[in-house]
Amino acid sequence: MSDSKSTNITWHAGVVSREDRQKLLGQRGVTLWLTGLSASGKSTIGTIVEKMLLERRKHAYRLDGDNVRHGLNKNLSFSAEDRAENIRRIGEVAKLFVDAGVIVIASFISPYRRDRDAVRGLMHAGEFVEIYVKVSLEGAERRDPKGLYKKARAGEIKGFTGIDDPYEAPEQAEIVIDTEKTTPEDAAGEIVAYLDRGGYLSA
Ligand code: ADP
Repeated sequence: MSDSKSTNITWHAGVVSREDRQKLLGQRGVTLWLTGLSASGKSTIGTIVEKMLLERRKHAYRLDGDNVRHGLNKNLSFSAEDRAENIRRIGEVAKLFVDAGVIVIASFISPYRRDRDAVRGLMHAGEFVEIYVKVSLEGAERRDPKGLYKKARAGEIKGFTGIDDPYEAPEQAEIVIDTEKTTPEDAAGEIVAYLDRGGYLSA
């Protein structure tokens, strides 16, 4: 689905640069990519990061698994092929937001390393920050806020990540959060501190 079927198209550059937009916003565009099992805490932590950034008058925008599947990606299933296309489209959307100077908070299970690396490959160095939101399978099943693990164990959901579908943990994530040892607030604080140190919150 990612093969190009368009011909005779050329990129049309504008006269306003990415640097102009960053100066306007007083920040640098970046994608915070939160990956981890269902119920690991990606959405919980991402939501707090968004609020913390707003309080510092920084423009962030959340892209979240279920939300994107309601619209842009509603024609995609959870097969490996469709999961790859799901992540590819989200990556392209995130890239546009980053170009616009926005801090993207992308929360997706994104179980395949290859798919995540492909998104990283779309962006410039430093524009993709992989955050492994870690939890043990037992921990995730204990939380099970949406009752999905219970359904997967009962065979009512097929191909559920961690149960009968693989999860490939990041090997070189910029940030690793052990959610069985860290509160959501502390995790979010750690992410904002990373942005601060890296100079993303000024331009
Ligand atoms: P995901 O987006 O990864 O599927 P959610 O954020 O929707 O996960 O759900 C995670 C659940 O785990 C929430 O009910 C949250 O309150 C709970 N939780 C318990 N401890 C933590 C923690 N340290 N970090 C994040 N979430 C936690």
